[in-house]
Amino acid sequence: MAVKEILKFGNPILKRVSKRVDNIDKEVINLVKDMKDTLYSTTGIGLAAPQIGILKRVILIDLRDDDEPIVLFNPVIAAKIGKDEDIEGCLSYPGYEGKVIRPKKVTVYGLNIKGEKVEYVAEGLLAKAFCHEIDHLDGVLYTDRARKMYKIEEE
Ligand SMILES: [Zn+2]
Repeated sequence: MAVKEILKFGNPILKRVSKRVDNIDKEVINLVKDMKDTLYSTTGIGLAAPQIGILKRVILIDLRDDDEPIVLFNPVIAAKIGKDEDIEGCLSYPGYEGKVIRPKKVTVYGLNIKGEKVEYVAEGLLAKAFCHEIDHLDGVLYTDRARKMYKIEEE
């Protein structure tokens, strides 16, 4: 499909709440393809549909390990355990990082690309990625949660 422009901090679309996906139709499948093309044009590990200007509840996560990328529609965090503070970044806020407190472990459910209900119990980086991407669907950026922001030093 196509590499889309990633909306940057300050764009009002990033602050809006995305709508549920009721039908996994051709349009939504094409959206997922665009999201993959766009994510893989970067070194990022996650992308939410509103970051390419589409206000639908779709997230894509790929930790760039051996596991298959995760595509989830209408994701919901059903449970959160513990707290952990770590550095996060966002494709919509290039050049910066921030320290954010997230749960250590989350249970997330949603629909996969076949429309089947799936559940993930995630820890560590994957748990943070779920929280970060699901926040995007509610118009929340990690900069809203970060206690401190840092400019990434150019090498
Ligand atoms: Zn982000």
